[in-house]
Amino acid sequence: MLEKLITYTDSIDLSYDQNNISFGFASLNYTESERNKFKYKLEGQNDDWIYTGHRNHAEFTNLRPGEYNFKVIGSNNDGVWNEEGVQLHISIHPPPWKTWWAYIIYAFLLLLLIRWYRSYLLARAKLRTQLEVEKIEKEKVLELDHMKSRFFANISHEFRTPLMLILGPIEDAVKKRSGPREFNMDILGAMHRNARRLLQLINQLLDISKLETGKVGLMVSEGNLEEFLKTIILSFSSLAESKKIKFEYDLPGRSVNCYFDCDKVEKILINLLSNAFKFTSEGGGVKVSLRYDKSDGPQWAEIVVTDSGIGIPAEKLEKIFDRFYQVNDSNTRTEEGTGIGLALTKELVVLCRGEISVESKPGKGSTFMVMLPVSVEQFDEDEIGMVVSEQEVRKALDKPSIEQEEEQVLEPTGSDVTETKKYAPIILIVEDNADLTNYIFRSLVKNYRILNAENGKEGLELATESIPDLVISDVMMPVMDGLEMCSKLKSDERTSHIPVIMLTARADRGSKLEGLETGADDYIIKPFDAEEMQVRVKNLIEQRKRLKEKFMKEVLSDSSEMDLPPVDQLMERLITLVTSHIADPEFMLDQLANELNMGRSQMFRKVAAITGHTPKAFILNMRLKKAASLFRSGHRHIATVMHQVGFNSQSYFATCFKKRYGITPSEYILSKGS
Ligand code: ADP
Repeated sequence: MLEKLITYTDSIDLSYDQNNISFGFASLNYTESERNKFKYKLEGQNDDWIYTGHRNHAEFTNLRPGEYNFKVIGSNNDGVWNEEGVQLHISIHPPPWKTWWAYIIYAFLLLLLIRWYRSYLLARAKLRTQLEVEKIEKEKVLELDHMKSRFFANISHEFRTPLMLILGPIEDAVKKRSGPREFNMDILGAMHRNARRLLQLINQLLDISKLETGKVGLMVSEGNLEEFLKTIILSFSSLAESKKIKFEYDLPGRSVNCYFDCDKVEKILINLLSNAFKFTSEGGGVKVSLRYDKSDGPQWAEIVVTDSGIGIPAEKLEKIFDRFYQVNDSNTRTEEGTGIGLALTKELVVLCRGEISVESKPGKGSTFMVMLPVSVEQFDEDEIGMVVSEQEVRKALDKPSIEQEEEQVLEPTGSDVTETKKYAPIILIVEDNADLTNYIFRSLVKNYRILNAENGKEGLELATESIPDLVISDVMMPVMDGLEMCSKLKSDERTSHIPVIMLTARADRGSKLEGLETGADDYIIKPFDAEEMQVRVKNLIEQRKRLKEKFMKEVLSDSSEMDLPPVDQLMERLITLVTSHIADPEFMLDQLANELNMGRSQMFRKVAAITGHTPKAFILNMRLKKAASLFRSGHRHIATVMHQVGFNSQSYFATCFKKRYGITPSEYILSKGS
């Protein structure tokens, strides 16, 4: 809306949608006004004059928002242009969304958007890292869980075995109502050793839990560290001797007094030495050395234990000080253990304000280095106790170490085996724990002949070679575990018939099923008593005997249809082989063993184990059975039949036939022919 007449207006403001403008103009020269001419321009759109001639209006469409100057000049009828024209300033305002404040809002919104997007990205990244952390934590928890359950499996194995070796003899004695006289020194020795092993395990567990709750303090006293270490070191020399390991020590040989916590240092060194001996085999070496940083008033002592044992792979090194961690956690671990020893050692070293490190190469050996502060200034006043007396040192170390005693276990000797009943069934015990072997041995030796192997591999070899009547095997064993041995026994024709009893400390269903899958015939969960073992063994052996009788009855029965119990494949092959060679009088044992891919004595024992007959008697019986069936089917010519079933001598044939059927061949023909 104009406030004044347009003629008096210098400028107008228009909104963005008032951008189609037309001007009408007139000149004040009225003389021949029709000859008046005009020119105009709209500065801001086009700076050139536009001549309209006599036309007195101008139009502009779709003007963009902005500032314009409209100028118009007229000429008179003589063509003389006015010096001054008229002008009008036009301002077309932009639409609200294109105004500066709209742009500010846009910029503001954009900024907001960028900020939101950034925080969205950050949140996403945070979420992702959080998820990753959670994943890692979950994995850690799972790993810890796995380690814990492995630890419980191990610890239950470690506890159950000594426990049953203590409980077994006691229960036997209770049943027999006999007193301690029932126990001979071997049994007592085994019970004592196993009780000590339990105590050591429990002490280790207690130590670790005490350390965890911070209940263990440091109590150093002044003493001769070298002398102290030497007594511990010497207590291992008989173990070194029995394991045939070269054991050396290198001590400074000077009497230097220093401050140390003898209880902790003893545990540290015993753990390191036990491990060194545990993981080093016969012919290897173990060395302990002690060094001080200064010969006079030392601040630090370094104890180094080096062995030439199995070593530890580099990637596992950092984990060995973790609780329950074992580099080799398979069933076939040769070494006993729970994975607490080194964790405890490390915590003790840290408690002593020391440091422990390890260097190792698989196959070459390991070196454990312990640095301990030994000068009085390094300890608080309340950590310093009385001087360690020589006597105390001796008292602490006089008890023989478990490792030393372990070697003195009595094993059943060859003569024990031969002295037992000559024809009793043979039982093979496959067990690495000598005490447990002794225990089983004692409970079975009265009625059976016993063989013994220390691991699955030996067990497998011995079983294949001697074809025992039953195998009793532990599950966890070095070199080859019981499950693997069992499945190998069951898949070998020579040994597939032998019943296997598995001993396990793991009372869980999983390992039971695993064992049964490998073909184990029975399961005994430790701890078991001697009677349980005897009953299971007797049952299995009798069951086999009945199967054997049923088998032979079927094989030798007169009916041609055999309803054989599922004994085993080798037996089926044996029957087919003998049947196909029945006419061959030369077909004898060597050939049979050859065809069955076995040694003669293996074949002998296998056939005897399944049929209860010697192979010779078995072949003979098969020949006679065939002869009888030929007679029954109408063959009446004895000599022909005799040749058909591989006999050369008629009198021998007649004697054997009579022995088997109670009548001579001719009487048999008559009886069946009528
Ligand atoms: P464990 O009771 O199994 O011996 P430790 O905590 O004492 O437990 O040791 C943890 C693991 O570190 C062992 O299972 C073994 O694999 C490895 N280890 C420890 N000491 C030695 C060594 N001297 N040589 C080789 N391996 C070792």
